Amino acid sequence: MTRRSKFQSPTGMHDILPRDQQYYDKIYSVIEEIADFYGFSKIDTPIIEEAELFERGVGLSTDIVQKQMFSFKTKGGDYLTLRPEGTAPVARAFIQYGMQNRPQPVKFWYFGPFFRHEKPQAGRYRQFYQFGFETLGEQSSVVDAQIILIFFNILKNLKFKDLIIGINSIGDSSCRPYYKKVLAGYFRSRESALCADCRKRLKQNPLRILDCKEEKCQPAISMAPQILDHLCDECHQHFKEVLEFLDELELPYQLNPYLVRGLDYYTKTVFEIFENTEKGKSQGALVGGGRYDNLIKVLRGNETPACGAAAGIERMISIMRQRPMGFRRRSGPDVFLAQLGPLAKRKSLKLLEEFREEKIQVGELLGKDSLKAQLNRANKMGVKYTLIFGQKEALEEKIIIRDMATGKQKIMPVKKIVKKLKKMLR
Ligand code: AMP
Repeated sequence: MTRRSKFQSPTGMHDILPRDQQYYDKIYSVIEEIADFYGFSKIDTPIIEEAELFERGVGLSTDIVQKQMFSFKTKGGDYLTLRPEGTAPVARAFIQYGMQNRPQPVKFWYFGPFFRHEKPQAGRYRQFYQFGFETLGEQSSVVDAQIILIFFNILKNLKFKDLIIGINSIGDSSCRPYYKKVLAGYFRSRESALCADCRKRLKQNPLRILDCKEEKCQPAISMAPQILDHLCDECHQHFKEVLEFLDELELPYQLNPYLVRGLDYYTKTVFEIFENTEKGKSQGALVGGGRYDNLIKVLRGNETPACGAAAGIERMISIMRQRPMGFRRRSGPDVFLAQLGPLAKRKSLKLLEEFREEKIQVGELLGKDSLKAQLNRANKMGVKYTLIFGQKEALEEKIIIRDMATGKQKIMPVKKIVKKLKKMLR
């Protein structure tokens, strides 16, 4: 019988090992502080939702719904999906709890794992973490600018540099259908100059051709009619205002007429933020978002304008790793408890509890019997004092305290040791 090879984490899914937790903690604390300032409340939605929520919300013709969802049928016959993104679930919760009856806008942020069945490559995983901000129930362009500002601030606080905002407007239901027709007509006359995927997109969603990265499609794309020339007055005015707010905030943006984003729910403003460095460009946008004025209605809620965005944590961390982050090292224990013999071992477990109650961190290696091994560990931890609790001391209810800097030792009653150390460590 051949031995089975070792178990590995599933393709495109990773463990977050203890050494990486500090990045998640740091990002989380920056988000939390900024969310607090701007008055966003945290929401957690289930990791699984009805598949139809994403089919309707994200859109049937999108890559996410067509190729990337982990969907399954339950024993009870429900058709569920591991959430591929956070906006549709937040919109679902907004409708489910009747939040349109609360003072508007309602502002949420979230942080958690998301799942897409993609071909794993740099910056693209099958389980990845995102955080997002969503403002629901407000149509003003100032909200679009504030969402962009929030993400920009979070990245800046985390020492990202050379940040660029790519921005576009993709219109709304009064101007986009006509533009789509114009665009489809244009690409139809150049169908042979398009890749196989784009020829499919031509039928389902010609807008998506604009962000195709295939070399073959670039000449046709570069000459394509641009949506900014076809926006209705309302969308044009809205976009103009967003850009004026960004100017006022002195945020660096670039108009990108080819930015359409891969989700159907967007209307008007769409944007991405990326770092304009080698690494930043190689792995794609850090943040993606925009306005989604139709989503709540598509999900059978009342008409509710909204705007939001999400950032990918793994992509952020892969850039943060290249820079000194100045993480504070966790301070280790100041005291080590070394024990020798069964009675001392038994009493040590209880003695540790007394230290814990006094909030004194104590290192130990209770599973080991060799004093040498324990003292070696105490040395490695760099503690100030080591307590030596041998068989004889345990019988006499005493304990030895050793000053690690001077090597001086004293013996004293076990009963007094916690108080004594508390004083010495002050
Ligand atoms: P999206 O939800 O597609 O608008 O993506 C928003 C952000 O999430 C992107 O800019 C990325 O930073 C991140 N992201 C999206 N898909 C993945 C993925 N498969 N792996 C890692 N990060 C991702």
